[in-house]
Amino acid sequence: MRLLEHQGKALFEKVGLSVPSGEVARTPAQAQACAEKLGGTVVVKAQVLAGGRGKAGGVKLARTPQEARAHAEAILGMRIKGERVQSVLVTRAVDILKEFYLSITLDRAQRKPVLIFSTQGGVDIEEVARTHPQAIARCWLDPLLGPSAYQIRGVLYESNVDQALFKPLHAIILKLYQAFAHFEATLVEINPLALTPAGELLTLDAKVILDDDAAFRQRERATLGEEAAQDPLEQKAQQAGLQYVKLDGNIGIIGNGAGLVMSTLDVVQLAGGKPANFLDIGGGATAEVMGKALGIVLSDPQVQGLFVNIFGGITRGDEVAKGLIAARQRLGIHVPMVVRLTGTNEAEGRKLLQAAGIAPVASMEEGARQIVDDVTAMIAK
Ligand code: GDP
Ligand code: MN
Repeated sequence: MRLLEHQGKALFEKVGLSVPSGEVARTPAQAQACAEKLGGTVVVKAQVLAGGRGKAGGVKLARTPQEARAHAEAILGMRIKGERVQSVLVTRAVDILKEFYLSITLDRAQRKPVLIFSTQGGVDIEEVARTHPQAIARCWLDPLLGPSAYQIRGVLYESNVDQALFKPLHAIILKLYQAFAHFEATLVEINPLALTPAGELLTLDAKVILDDDAAFRQRERATLGEEAAQDPLEQKAQQAGLQYVKLDGNIGIIGNGAGLVMSTLDVVQLAGGKPANFLDIGGGATAEVMGKALGIVLSDPQVQGLFVNIFGGITRGDEVAKGLIAARQRLGIHVPMVVRLTGTNEAEGRKLLQAAGIAPVASMEEGARQIVDDVTAMIAK
């Protein structure tokens, strides 16, 4: 999970890094109010997951609250690398003497975190990496010990940074590593880490990628997720442990395995239908999971038909059938439903379905045609 700048900064503040104060605004009027509260010059910054916002015109200095409002007006709704800007961060502007680059990321090839530092940070860091690779110092870290004092000194010596900054930079690197380890990130990046004329070092930008495989033990993340997953059904599915993506059609799709669900979407589309969602119940799903999946798909008011496509491997056909039957009774499915069931315990599953008055189709193509026909007929009525 990639975080927005203000979310990343919130994590950085928790480990004691210095971040200029700021607030998120969703309208130009809110941006103006934030600027008034902060006083003085502010920066209005697009909150999108894409990088390179500065170069795309998504980061603007504003000397007055009116100017902040005008910048917010221009930035909100603009697209940066295809991503629409829905909020801006308004922060106190900082005088910058120098821009440093600092990050810790997971080097999968080395199976270790790598610490990267450069005195030539800022918006052109990629260019620096290409043309002056020697201006970027790296050091691989022991995943159990984290950065040791001699490693940090080594990186700073190599970077030719002013020795007066060794001590504060050392402290910042340790805090950043703490954020990396504690929040189980695969990347924590500060670019720029700004040196002010007063000699302060401030975190002006934050790029954080959290390891999704650690989500189950990272309670603090729950509050971050709310903003990331905006669709309420997607949120509900996430809580149920299901992979669900809302689409804009009217035929609900449930399958097991991402590949199968993707091809089901294609086949339904080929048959002239429009899928309402992607929903993968995963391998080994039980009757209970199938029930939850149906509940989520059917609470989408756009859904006018349902195609359940199960290829049983570790998922058992009889379990799927039981789940479908129980859910139908409980939810009172009011739209046409087509089921294709094959693989493990297929015969038992089909028998159960037939006894409940649901005739399973023989193939995925047939199922797609059938549901498209059923839905078309229902709409025509
Ligand atoms: P990015 O382009 O998406 O990486 O966005 P950043 O947050 O890094 O901002 C881009 C650039 O805007 C920075 O490299 C700075 O040069 C400039 N910038 C950001 N915040 C400030 C600030 O408080 N004061 C000044 N003077 N410049 C800033
Ligand atoms: Mn940046």
